[in-house]
Amino acid sequence: MLPDVARAWEHLQRVAQELFARYGYEPVYTPLFEHTDVFTRGIGEATDIVSKEMYTFEDKGGRSITLRPEGTASVVRAALEHNLTANGAQAKLYYAGPMFRYERPQKGRMRQFWQIGIECLGAPEPTADAEVITVLWRYFETLGIPAANMRLLLNSMGDEACRPAYRDTIASFIRDHADGLCEECNRRADTNPLRAFDCKNPGCREIMAEAPLLRDELCEECAHHYAAVKEYLDALGIPYIEDSTLVRGLDYYTRTVFEVQVDAGLGSQNAIGGGGRYDRLMQEYGGPATPGLGFALGFERTLLALEAAGVDIPAVPRAEVFVARVDDSATAEVFALSQRLRDAGVAAELDHQARSLKSQFKQADRLGARLVIVAGPDELASGEVTLRDMSTKEEKRLALGSADADVIDALGQEGTD
Ligand code: AMP
Repeated sequence: MLPDVARAWEHLQRVAQELFARYGYEPVYTPLFEHTDVFTRGIGEATDIVSKEMYTFEDKGGRSITLRPEGTASVVRAALEHNLTANGAQAKLYYAGPMFRYERPQKGRMRQFWQIGIECLGAPEPTADAEVITVLWRYFETLGIPAANMRLLLNSMGDEACRPAYRDTIASFIRDHADGLCEECNRRADTNPLRAFDCKNPGCREIMAEAPLLRDELCEECAHHYAAVKEYLDALGIPYIEDSTLVRGLDYYTRTVFEVQVDAGLGSQNAIGGGGRYDRLMQEYGGPATPGLGFALGFERTLLALEAAGVDIPAVPRAEVFVARVDDSATAEVFALSQRLRDAGVAAELDHQARSLKSQFKQADRLGARLVIVAGPDELASGEVTLRDMSTKEEKRLALGSADADVIDALGQEGTD
């Protein structure tokens, strides 16, 4: 990522950090690779990620290691290892960084991509679901993606009380419609029947649209939880669309699942973020029953969505002030003055290539400097420098000793215009 993109990246991270902090989330950094087992156990053997997409290697010690394909498994593994949710404590954590999946690359789908996500551990109540969904929605809104461009899909996947029976129902449905469904969907009847809802094949979609809906077969507790999540989202005016076919790719989800999709700027990879509740995940790692939920969003797709919405990433000037010199006699003063400005928090730049004054002005322009200070033998002889405002072209003389304070004043005044 070259600076143009990396700057956008930092903007996306800054906005996330500020927003997530308001909801009490703290940063956590997990390793780029883990024992393969962390992912196979957490994400599930039958998922696309584990069965097809992981970068798995043997290290020199003969251990199987995997580049992380997502963040939740590692965060939950770390929370358990370090007792963050011991004795019923709640942990609110966020992470950011590259993830790796061996998928077929296309627009918005890379083999190394960047996710930022939050995890709320130890929180069983539906208020937590509504909060996590709200953070995701507000994040995209804060960045400037118009709500009208986005679609928030919501579903409940039930829990161990109601999902197994529904899985069987869908497996039978797939077998009853074997002829019309693709090979992959037929295979899913035995491995992961709910994933048949995710098939992109139009024929399969048509058939699966007729399948029984989990929404109608939730157990009482799941139905109650789901109704409460919707009630809280309604109260905040978060505009969700119920979609009973939203199943999401990971095995660990229970109850609430959600996804934000955007059409403009993205092709078939139109999900910019999503997540859900995973109340059984901690137990998969041998820990005590600890409810949790979270989301992950992808930076590459978020940037495509921002571009499509015509949102400019705020530019950070590479230099506010350029300190130029007429000739070498002023070098020491220019160097010292630049440093005083930098120490005072001003982005100041000077020439390191012995360029002519004219080229230094060009350089100042390219860097977006609002002010240029010129030091030459004439000015320095009277202990002064010249300050030029690049937009008004006005020039004035400043005393060298207090030039930094005057420049800071001038920058402040322009900033408040
Ligand atoms: P997931 O972990 O699959 O739920 O993905 C969460 C978010 O990560 C998606 O909504 C995308 O924005 C992003 N994402 C997932 N896979 C990729 C990929 N291969 N390339 C780019 N972004 C991705």
